[in-house]
Amino acid sequence: MKKVIVIGAGISGLSAAIYAQRSGFNVTICEQHSIAGGMCTSWRRKGYLFEGAVHWLTGSSPKTVLYQLWKDTGALSDNVPVTCHDPFYSVEWEGKTLNIYRDIDKTAEQLLALSPEDKKVIESLVKDVKTLEKVEMPVTDIKGVKTENPKRMSLNLLLSLLPSLPVIGRLNKISCKDYTSFFKYRGIQKLFQFMPDEYCASSLLFTLASLHSGDGGYPEGGSLGMIAGMEKTFKDLGGALLLNTKVNKVNINNGKTIGVTLESGFLEADAVIVTQETIAACEKLFDIPLKEKWLCDLKEKISPAVCTFVGIGVRAEIKISPVPVWTLDTPIKCAGETINEIGFYNYSGLKGYAPEGCTALTTAFMGDTYDYWKKAKEEGRYNEEKKSLADEIIRVLCVKYPQTEGKIDVIDIATPLTYERYTGANKGSWMSVMKPGDKMTGRSGFVKNTEGLYFAGHRLMSPGGMPVALVSGRTAAQLVCRQFGVTF
Ligand SMILES: Cc1cc2nc3c(=O)[nH]c(=O)nc-3n(C[C@H](O)[C@H](O)[C@H](O)COP(=O)(O)OP(=O)(O)OC[C@H]3O[C@@H](n4cnc5c(N)ncnc54)[C@H](O)[C@@H]3O)c2cc1C
Repeated sequence: MKKVIVIGAGISGLSAAIYAQRSGFNVTICEQHSIAGGMCTSWRRKGYLFEGAVHWLTGSSPKTVLYQLWKDTGALSDNVPVTCHDPFYSVEWEGKTLNIYRDIDKTAEQLLALSPEDKKVIESLVKDVKTLEKVEMPVTDIKGVKTENPKRMSLNLLLSLLPSLPVIGRLNKISCKDYTSFFKYRGIQKLFQFMPDEYCASSLLFTLASLHSGDGGYPEGGSLGMIAGMEKTFKDLGGALLLNTKVNKVNINNGKTIGVTLESGFLEADAVIVTQETIAACEKLFDIPLKEKWLCDLKEKISPAVCTFVGIGVRAEIKISPVPVWTLDTPIKCAGETINEIGFYNYSGLKGYAPEGCTALTTAFMGDTYDYWKKAKEEGRYNEEKKSLADEIIRVLCVKYPQTEGKIDVIDIATPLTYERYTGANKGSWMSVMKPGDKMTGRSGFVKNTEGLYFAGHRLMSPGGMPVALVSGRTAAQLVCRQFGVTF
C-alpha cells in the first residue's frame, strides 16, 4: 500500500486524508497542534464556549452538491440538526433595527418601506440574488482520474448557469463599498457593510444568495462537532493521526517527494499533501523555493484575510440575536484602526455555549493588523494592547446593555499572532481577500516539476473558507490517485 503523508488536520487535511485513505492509501496526518481542526475550532473559557469559525456554512443544506462531501467526510450527517438563524444580520439606524433576513423578498420589503427612493437598486439586488442562487460551487473530478462515482458538470447545469455569468462579471468589477453606495439611505448602506469594503461585490451577493436558497446554516456542535465527525471517519477507515507532530521540512530528492522531516526524524512517504496555509508552507517547508506559477501568483496578487477575534462571557442574559451593529458615540481603537461600529454574534439560543442565565458573545474586527500586533509584541506592549482593547469593548457593551455592567466573566482576544501560532498560517490568515478584478478560478494544488507533492487548503480558491478547504482536499486525494493509477 502506498504511503501518503498529509501535513495538517484542518478541514482540508482531514478531507484529503479521508478521501485518500478510502481510496486504499496508507495515510498518516501530521498535525502540529494538540487537537485537530486548525482554523475550524472553538475554545472554552470559564464555562463559555466561543465559536471560532463556523458562522455560516455553505453546503449545510441537503439540497446542495457540497452537502454530500460534508457527509462523505463525516463533518455533517442527516442526524446533525442545522440552525438557520433569522435574521442573519442586523444594524441599528436612527432608532430602527434593519435586518438581513434569509428571504431576500422579506429583506427587500422592509428596505422599500424605509427608503422608497432606493426602489430600483433594491429590485436589482433581489433580481441578482435570485440569479446567483442557482450557482453552486462546482464539485467535479480532475482530468485523468479513475472514479467509481464520476462527478461532472452536466450540460443542463451549465446552461442553467449562463444567466449568472453577466451578473458575476458585473459584480466582480466593483467593491462592496461601491455597491453599497448605490443605496441613498445610509441605514441600508450600513446593513450591507457586513462584508469588508474592499471585497468585491460578488462576495456580498453570493452570501445573500446562499442564505436565500436555504443554505448557510449553523450545524449543531459547530466547528468542534464537524471536526470530531471528520476525525472519527478518518480513524474508522484505519488512518493515523499524529498530534503534536510538526513537519519541519518536505524532503524532495531528484524531483521526487520522498517524505517529511519531523523533530523526531524522517518519515518516508510516496506522496505528501501540504495543507499548512500555502504561502507559509512555501516559505518554511522547502529547501529549494518552489517556482510554480500559481504559487507565485498567489503570493504576489492575493491578499490574505486576517482578523482580531473577541469572545465575551457575560453573567447576564442578552436575548437579542444577533446583537445588532450599532454606531459608537466614542469610537474605539483596535490595533491602531478606528472602529466606529460594533455588533456581536450571540450564542444564547444554543445549549452548552454559556452557563444558565449567561451569554456568550463573539465579534471579529476584519483587516490586516498583523504588523501592528507583531510590533506590539516585539516592543513588549502586546498584553497591554490586548487589555486596553478588552477594556474599550467592555465599556461600549456596558453603556449599550447596562445589565452587563460588572458582569463580564471573561473576555478573550485572539490576534493574527494567535492564529499564526496555532496554525502556522501566513499572517494568521484564514481566507483570501477577493478584490474587484480577482478571479474565482481554482488553483489545482499540483506542482509540475515535483512528483508526489500536492497542496490543498483554503487559499486554493478565493475567497476561500471551509467549502474551498473541503473541495481542495478531495482534489488533492484525486491527484494522488491519478499519480498511482488508483481508482478514487
Ligand atoms: C474568525 C473566523 C471566522 C470564520 N468564519 C467562517 C465561516 O463562517 N464560514 C466558512 O466557510 N469559513 C469560515 N472561516 C474560515 C475557515 O475556518 C478556514 O478557511 C478553514 O477552516 C481553513 O481550513 P484549512 O484546512 O485550509 O486550513 P487550516 O485550518 O489552517 O489547517 C491547517 C492545519 O495545518 C496545521 N499545520 C500547519 N503547519 C504545520 C506543520 N508544519 N506541521 C504540522 N501541522 C501543521 C495547522 O495546525 C492546522 O491544523 C472562519 C475563520 C475564522 C478564523
